[in-house]
Amino acid sequence: GRCMSTGAAKLADINPSRLEVVRTSQPGVPPPSSSLKFGHTFTDHMLTVPWDVVSGWGVPKIEPYGPLQLEPSCTVLHYAQTIFEGMKAYRHDDGRVTLFRPDMNMKRMNTSAARIALPTFDGEAMLELIKQLIRIDKDWIPREPGHSLYVRPTLIGTQKAIGVGPPSEALMFVILSPVGPYYPKGFKPVSLYGTTEFVRAAPGGTGAFKLGVNYAPGILPQKQAAEQGYAQNLWLHGPEHYLTEVGTMNMFVVFGKGDGSYELVTPPLDGMILPGVTRDSVLSLARRHASKSYTVKDLPEQITVSERPVTMAEVRDASKNGTLIEMFGAGTAAVISPVDRIGYRGEDVHVPTGKDGMGPLSRPIWRELVGRQTGEIKSDWSVEI
Ligand code: PMP
Repeated sequence: GRCMSTGAAKLADINPSRLEVVRTSQPGVPPPSSSLKFGHTFTDHMLTVPWDVVSGWGVPKIEPYGPLQLEPSCTVLHYAQTIFEGMKAYRHDDGRVTLFRPDMNMKRMNTSAARIALPTFDGEAMLELIKQLIRIDKDWIPREPGHSLYVRPTLIGTQKAIGVGPPSEALMFVILSPVGPYYPKGFKPVSLYGTTEFVRAAPGGTGAFKLGVNYAPGILPQKQAAEQGYAQNLWLHGPEHYLTEVGTMNMFVVFGKGDGSYELVTPPLDGMILPGVTRDSVLSLARRHASKSYTVKDLPEQITVSERPVTMAEVRDASKNGTLIEMFGAGTAAVISPVDRIGYRGEDVHVPTGKDGMGPLSRPIWRELVGRQTGEIKSDWSVEI
């Protein structure tokens, strides 16, 4: 993902050997893990890398966490020139710290940047800088099981001028937030509101990219769903009411085929779906298990894995005739999030859930994913910092 300038001179890429570190003189005290609220606590330091169109990527800096200086004319504040990523660092029992498939996040960030004409960058170099930042603040990674350090890389357009165009200046920054488990007291299945009056993504739109602009419009629909007693939106597309995503997660549906075999289905990457790292991981594990090249403990053997469109009619019919086995969201924050009902056209479609909220496919897949994230299961998806 390197970006060459079109002119004669090659612009500087992100270069970890230029890193400058300014340590805080007032280190904070990490709060007790039990009081952590997702995304509300930040560590002592942040990473910044400036970019401009003349010289490319500038000097990376690790400096005390604090406010950014932005002029009110900055393009990000007017035209939503902002993209972001989300991944987690885990502290293992032996003291090692690892990230989960961070190369995927760097790739996706470059894809997002390119989509809104922000500068792209060397993902490996950027990852090296992120690792340095995490090393400096590693005492902030909670030790309790299920806890982690949420890593939020962000890239914004900072040109000081009103006018819509590719920005001549940009700023990359990374902040770190210690977080607890999404479900501290075991899985709690969520209810979904089958949303047709708002769209999250459309063909030719930006749903497949992690752009800030995709998120603000989803807040009102979420609020309205909550007012009707549903936790999240199930974003339905088109007159067929295709299922696309759940809140800000990818989604999976499991159908039983009557002969004891299962079909694990997720919508295809057709431009309306964010290519989630968790989604890819679930698909990859299930496919390897189905082809017997790898065994996910306790996962049923007879599984077909499909990336194909699913309609609400298919889900509703399956719920009625007993072939709907389970449904779940998949994303970095919650990993796996089981669903127990969908409000659709004034009715509730019932979705089965197992005894601890998880179903026959989601439980073993969740255990395998978490095992790989926390180091209990050895895997090359786990990258040491
Ligand atoms: N869809 C949307 C819209 C998201 O914001 C996210 C979270 N990044 C996901 C899906 C899940 O992606 P991932 O598994 O990479 O966290």
